[in-house]
Amino acid sequence: MYTIAGKTADWEVVIGLEVHCQILSASKVFSGASTAFGAEQNTQVSFVDAAFPGMLPVLNAKCVEQCVKTGIGLNAAINKYSRFDRKNYFYADLPAGYQISQLYHPIVGEGHVEITTSEGTRKIGVERLHLEQDAGKSIHDMAPDKSFIDLNRCGVGLMEIVSKPDMRSPEEAGEYLRRLRAIVRALGTCDGNMDEGSMRCDVNVSVRKAGETGLRPRVEVKNVNSVRFVMQAIEIEAARQIALYESDQCFAQETRLFDAVHMETRPMRSKENAHDYRYFPDPDLLPVILTDDYIESIRKSLPELPEAKKKRYMDAFGLSAYDAGVLTADAETAAYFESAIAGRDAKKVANWIMGDLFANLNKAGKSIAQSPVAADHIGALVGLIADGAISGKIAKDVFALMWETGRAPAQIVAEKGLKQVSDTGAVEQIIADVLAAHPDKVAEIKAGKDKLKGWLVGQIMKASGGAVNPALANQLLDKKLAE
Ligand code: MN
Repeated sequence: MYTIAGKTADWEVVIGLEVHCQILSASKVFSGASTAFGAEQNTQVSFVDAAFPGMLPVLNAKCVEQCVKTGIGLNAAINKYSRFDRKNYFYADLPAGYQISQLYHPIVGEGHVEITTSEGTRKIGVERLHLEQDAGKSIHDMAPDKSFIDLNRCGVGLMEIVSKPDMRSPEEAGEYLRRLRAIVRALGTCDGNMDEGSMRCDVNVSVRKAGETGLRPRVEVKNVNSVRFVMQAIEIEAARQIALYESDQCFAQETRLFDAVHMETRPMRSKENAHDYRYFPDPDLLPVILTDDYIESIRKSLPELPEAKKKRYMDAFGLSAYDAGVLTADAETAAYFESAIAGRDAKKVANWIMGDLFANLNKAGKSIAQSPVAADHIGALVGLIADGAISGKIAKDVFALMWETGRAPAQIVAEKGLKQVSDTGAVEQIIADVLAAHPDKVAEIKAGKDKLKGWLVGQIMKASGGAVNPALANQLLDKKLAE
């Protein structure tokens, strides 16, 4: 269990995440304006988005479908009845003066996301997923004395996915977020790009003494935009709260900002409650009624989900939950793995991908899609070891050359003359030379000092430049010593 040692007690951290996922859809949730990223400011704004008088919202069926897909991916109940409410507040980037959201009747109810951490596999509860619209963007850094508004994002569909306060460590929160991202990416319902803002995370953090039941006041840290920042924000905010409790200070429920440069959270505003927003049903929109047939047809159309894929990797290939989790964290890695294993030992292929390949990719700052080593080349490398053509030790050198040149391992082995010596006559000659060079060691072995045999095998490998098949060397050495 993850706890933080304080002066007076060990403290436990309680974490819940609210994640806004921008829905992948060509047009906005209540208008026909485009959602394409990176367009010139205020060029993708319809009269509805700009809240001109008399303009009426029309619900985009694609956004509803994306919510249902995601709900199924979250193992959640799909609500056949849902409804829109107005959340009223004033802000310059919200022309209507309210956000259309779902408070009382969200489209998706309770579900869960399965995570695997160093403490094992468990389910993190999802409270709900609701459909709402995004606001525009205020730009404060273009002129010293002016602020600008870009309404392109105003009205883009969002899925807000609210977890239960089930997470107990930064590691769990990070893993939950990664799994969530894997799910929406696999389903094609959100691109999951946190750095472009299409997935934004609000982190609810509270602490309590280990063993305590019930929850203490929480702090919401707003708009944290990477997995790493989420984990850091939790650590920093938990430490701040513990320090306050331990010096007998109390604090109010509030909303704070995470500053990744100064590594601190800062107050933003006191935490508002639902009644502050004067929610009421939006009179311009009808409730959304879904049929069983509609939900079933979507369920049948879904691709294999990351969780199912992970289970399949564990069952079919004997991978650990952790390894299977890493390989299914995104579609590219899973696709790479699946094309690499064709006809090979999947466990060994997984080790090469998660070992040498990932280490090199990380070091070079490359994604798996940019890997200079092709998937079938990894498979071929594992094949060469399995066939006894090269040793595991030589394979490391071959891999380094594959990374550098992007060439096939068989080609590299042939060119560099790295092929393992499996020819009995050649190996016997090497053994004879080694034994002749070390008559003292041979005498000791013959006198019963069996342990020295390993040392001799080492000498044989060295003499051959690592090219001798070790199993064959052992076997022939025994034969020679018995003579
Ligand atoms: Mn929201």
